[in-house]
Amino acid sequence: MKVAQLKGVALPLFGICFMNESLAGQPIRFVPLPAQQALHVAWPTRNQSLRSTPELFFATTRENADYGKPGWTRNCGKRFHRGCDISPVRKSATGKTTIVFFSACESQTEYKSEEPTFIPHDEIFSVYAGVVEEAVLIEKESDFGLHIVLMHHWPGTRRPFYTLYGHLAEVHAEVGRPIKKGERIGLMGQTSRIADARNWLSVVPHLHFEVWNEEKKAYNPALFLDHYAPRPQRETD
Ligand SMILES: [Zn+2]
Repeated sequence: MKVAQLKGVALPLFGICFMNESLAGQPIRFVPLPAQQALHVAWPTRNQSLRSTPELFFATTRENADYGKPGWTRNCGKRFHRGCDISPVRKSATGKTTIVFFSACESQTEYKSEEPTFIPHDEIFSVYAGVVEEAVLIEKESDFGLHIVLMHHWPGTRRPFYTLYGHLAEVHAEVGRPIKKGERIGLMGQTSRIADARNWLSVVPHLHFEVWNEEKKAYNPALFLDHYAPRPQRETD
């Protein structure tokens, strides 16, 4: 399995976490759909606990419960996160450790911590039917490492939106290929060209998931899933 090759590679989120007006300022509104149209999306991973147990959905760290959320700031407010980091349902401990830096916000200092590392094993699924817009297969090309961008259309409209699946171990998608809703498009991984990101990905494995509007500005991806992904049965009864 290719994930075995990721040993010693670490992970995440910083170069990717630029301030984004759409999340930091005015929220971007989802495109209103024509009458008789509705959007029903699939979950991007097997983790569907966003509403029931968000602490199991987002890739929180031992020190920061907001770590995986959109807008979360790892470094005491200094970093902005436009995606959401979704925890794996299945992961295994490597038996190794990695040094990461936590922030002590009151004193504005960072301190080293040696944390256990893990490898994720979850599959990644397309949230909606679309076409592969981008498929990056070389880790050093992107802060997102191996990743996929899909283009979709709001139902009943010609207006596109995009979804991004980052830090993958495997990409099962070629540019231009049509993709079905819920199709398996890759495997969760720990790839990024940034060493600090790779460190965090080994300690806190996750899928980095984004949703963009037609101008490629980011929606709040957790809000998107909350709006359009199916509710657990017990909530709809
Ligand atoms: Zn992220």
